[in-house]
Amino acid sequence: MNCKLNNKLKKYYEEILIKLFIDNTLLYKFVNCHRISSRSFFVRNRQFHVCARCTGLIAGCIISPLFLPVSEHASKIFIFSFMVLLFDGVTQIMRWRKSNNRLRVITGFMTGATTLSFFWVTVNHLFLKLY
Ligand SMILES: [Zn+2]
Repeated sequence: MNCKLNNKLKKYYEEILIKLFIDNTLLYKFVNCHRISSRSFFVRNRQFHVCARCTGLIAGCIISPLFLPVSEHASKIFIFSFMVLLFDGVTQIMRWRKSNNRLRVITGFMTGATTLSFFWVTVNHLFLKLY
């Protein structure tokens, strides 16, 4: 009984992921991602149109309005998470270390989730300085 429910939930979540990251033609057309298969997720043997980091960024951006009420704190988290994302990406490009998809999606998600708050706070501070 419980196993059947888990399987139904798993299929439901897979359908959401497929609709968002595989069947979504907007991602394919407008997101400029390398799409390296070893750095991407698969659901039912179908590769996402974006890499793990972009998957995290997009998922984070989707929920980013939820952080607007605490945007002052979230914007500080953005700076930290963006630095971690940059560190992960740059050290990987320089071949100093190897990253993994879990780290890529987490840093992408944290950065994406707090990006709107960061821009909200930045625009507010710029606006307040003007007047
Ligand atoms: Zn990407």
